[in-house]
Amino acid sequence: MNVHSIRFRLTVWYAALLALMLIIFGGGVYVGLARYLKAKASDQLAFQARQIAETWLQRMNETGEEYVVDEIDEHLSPRATHRFIRLTRADGSVLYQSDPPRDGRFDPANVPPARPPYREGIREQHWPGDVDLLIYALPASVPGAGTFLIEVGAPYNQIERTLQGLAFTFAVILPLAMILAIGSGYLLMKRALRPIDDITSAAESITSRNLSERLPVPGTGDEVERLSRTLNRMIERLERSFRQIAQFTADASHELRTPLTILRGELEVTLRQNALAPATREILESMLEETDRLSETVEKLMILSRLDSGQLKLEWQWFDLAELCRDTVEQMRLLAEDKEIELDCFAPPRLEVKADPSRLRQILINLIDNAIKCTPSGGSVRVRLTQQADRAFIEVTDTGQGIPADAVPHIFDRFYRVDEARSRESGGSGLGLAITKMLCELHGGRIDVESRLGEGTRFRVTIPIGGIHQGG
Ligand code: ADP
Repeated sequence: MNVHSIRFRLTVWYAALLALMLIIFGGGVYVGLARYLKAKASDQLAFQARQIAETWLQRMNETGEEYVVDEIDEHLSPRATHRFIRLTRADGSVLYQSDPPRDGRFDPANVPPARPPYREGIREQHWPGDVDLLIYALPASVPGAGTFLIEVGAPYNQIERTLQGLAFTFAVILPLAMILAIGSGYLLMKRALRPIDDITSAAESITSRNLSERLPVPGTGDEVERLSRTLNRMIERLERSFRQIAQFTADASHELRTPLTILRGELEVTLRQNALAPATREILESMLEETDRLSETVEKLMILSRLDSGQLKLEWQWFDLAELCRDTVEQMRLLAEDKEIELDCFAPPRLEVKADPSRLRQILINLIDNAIKCTPSGGSVRVRLTQQADRAFIEVTDTGQGIPADAVPHIFDRFYRVDEARSRESGGSGLGLAITKMLCELHGGRIDVESRLGEGTRFRVTIPIGGIHQGG
């Protein structure tokens, strides 16, 4: 799981907000219910206290104290209803106090005696060992008998038990609700962001060579659709610019070709004259060499611009790559012998591949030519062709000067030369490997390089044996 993804971060935010809301909601319900239950219990106790005052105490003068006590005990039966009832006279003496409830949850004798002056109100009575009591006190003046304090109490733990039940329900339900909400939120987010994933992978596959392709437009009318339309317009502008650059390179190379051919012809004709002074001849020969070099660079630029614009199409066909390797090596042998370099080819008797033979020959020539140029006399260059599953490998290994480690990542860049001066001297333009790499990729393959400074270099071309689809 990518913790930096929008999906993850939104889910975390959403979960945190949801948790906060649920905690506030749960806390609010808990506090509200606690208040409500306490108020309701207090109302009930007040009602009973008033009932005692109005029903029995008011008529005590006529009925007598004993009657009142009996009536209360009989009608309100505190033992069975778990009530605490106490009537205290104005002087603090107790007229009536209920017996302990049947289940013995509390002992009324433990409730501290009431002390005048009496005041109406609710209070919580806590003491260790027994349950807490919620007690309502109501002073009532009885005609001819003075003031009495009526106290009616009930165990508080019923309310506590209800609240504990609620807290337990919250503790179980809230995490479950959270898990459900996070899970479904994550999945929803995944669905909502899928078009962005599609756009990302489509955008990743677009390179300078398939700029005519466009990103998928989801048609949802939302920000994602706007994003892909905007990106598509950007790709369109890029495509136009690329086309212009490729066209410019192609036009410029084309325009340079003719004057260079003419220049070459004229130089050759002039050089054929016998009357030339040796110094002039030397200058003209050097000019001819430079013209050849320039023509080669122009040819390479033309190939690159055709590769860039996608105009260069491969001519796919089945042929024997082993034979092509042997032929090319033979073709380069003279060049190697000139420099006293040993040139070998190791290839199986036959290896049929589907590819463009002229482009593969170009790849081989570029690599062998570079290897011969970069290897001193007495060294060796070896071409090796192998097959593994559905891939063919061509390795060109030399015992030459090698490539410095910091230059290796740039070796396939255009116009990059490891040693500018020496490369120029040997006629290099720095375009050969750039073309080689693009040709390998056009074949659905790749090229890798391994090099040790002062020991040698190995280029390895990998191509699929059966070609790729675009060739049909
Ligand atoms: P160039 O046309 O100048 O040879 P390339 O693109 O073919 O340009 O090669 C780029 C650079 O890579 C060259 O400057 C050369 O020094 C270096 N290079 C290529 N092949 C080898 C090799 N086999 N050994 C050492 N250096 C090499």
